[in-house]
Amino acid sequence: MNVLWQRWLLLLLAQAVLGALGAWLAGWPAALAAVLLGSWLWLLADSWQARKLWGWLQSGDVADVPPMRGLWAALGASMRRWLRAKEKSVQAADLRAQGVLHAFHASPNGVILVDDQGQIEWCNRMAESHFGLQAERDLGQMLGYLVRDPALSAYWHGQDFSEPLSMEGIQGARLSVRFYPYGKGKFLLLAQDVTALEQAEAMRREFVANVSHEIRTPLTVLMGFVETLQTLELSEQQRQRYLDLMGQQAQRMHHLVQDLLTLSRLEGSPLPNYDHAVGVRTILQQCEVEARALSKLLCKDEPLHVLQFPTADDAGMDTELLGAQVELVSAFSNLITNALHYTPPGGQVQVRWLMHADGSASLQVRDSGPGIAPEHVLRLSERFYRVDRSRSRETGGTGLGLAIVKHAVQRHGAQLHIESKVGQGSVFSVHFPARRLRTPSSGA
Ligand code: ADP
Repeated sequence: MNVLWQRWLLLLLAQAVLGALGAWLAGWPAALAAVLLGSWLWLLADSWQARKLWGWLQSGDVADVPPMRGLWAALGASMRRWLRAKEKSVQAADLRAQGVLHAFHASPNGVILVDDQGQIEWCNRMAESHFGLQAERDLGQMLGYLVRDPALSAYWHGQDFSEPLSMEGIQGARLSVRFYPYGKGKFLLLAQDVTALEQAEAMRREFVANVSHEIRTPLTVLMGFVETLQTLELSEQQRQRYLDLMGQQAQRMHHLVQDLLTLSRLEGSPLPNYDHAVGVRTILQQCEVEARALSKLLCKDEPLHVLQFPTADDAGMDTELLGAQVELVSAFSNLITNALHYTPPGGQVQVRWLMHADGSASLQVRDSGPGIAPEHVLRLSERFYRVDRSRSRETGGTGLGLAIVKHAVQRHGAQLHIESKVGQGSVFSVHFPARRLRTPSSGA
């Protein structure tokens, strides 16, 4: 039987017993008085229990249910169960909300939640660093007052967020910013750092412009010669001269395309296989043969370069480099070719292989050429960077040689270092860490 019915029955029973007792002792008026007195006492007891329940609900401590009886005890127990369930679901919702906020903190993008007035309700750490905000200090402030950028302000007031806004963050970072509406009139601002992307895009544009320029120049010359050959009556000697010049321009374009392909292969292909070993002696012997032939070609009737290479028995020549032979030969021979091209006939070019105490080793190419001013040294390995454009062109250079060297050696864990002083020649060295070498003693 349910507790309410029990209560009613108990009340009726108590009233009946009291009424009967009153009637038996002092007649009907006493019976009525006894029933009334019983009801008042019942009401008093109920008020007392209700007061306890009320006090418990006011205390806010769900666990501390006061001792109660009957219906009140049942009421208290079910209220406690209900409150416990509510408390658990609030805790679960709170945990979920915390999880979402933690996820926002882990985001590589800046996130700011603003209300319909543009007041900051929350922001993650990345947004703090993008806009120089401080969550504890700035919550409740207007975003527009803290980030004083007219473009952002116009974007917010325009309320057209179909396209992102490109703006400057602190410390010159480029940000792509967009508002996303959510909830009732609220907005989530997402800020993405696109500095690297924009730089890459600028580099791509510059690269395309450079390539176009490099190809257009010999192409224009070539077209001029073709037109001359087509329109003018030329002697056989003149024809031959024009054909030679055309051949030179075609060669130049051919070199450029070859270097571009090499560079794109280096950038796009997987890292070399380090299980493969190439002997330093083999590479340098190949480079020496090529260098002596090139020196003869460059010096013509003038004295040849004084070329110095390590001999086959020199220390460290039995070392092996781990990686791709084609790339290593290309890097070494680019450095040696440059030394020969930029050093006048009769000048010195010395190639050395140096073993260091920590097990690392270096290739060193030293020349007695014109040297390079310090402001150029750091930029030499940029694509198409030349100290002297016309000098580079005379040597048939593409401006890509050192970029190729840098990439090729980096793919082998090595570093390119350049030391030079104007008038005192240059030293180009490639430093290989021990882990990229195999020496007979290491047995690796
Ligand atoms: P290039 O094809 O023009 O030689 P590189 O990338 O090989 O292009 O070299 C970039 C520039 O560095 C050259 O244009 C030249 O100005 C300078 N350079 C390279 N090697 C030497 C060197 N040994 N002596 C002097 N300048 C050099």
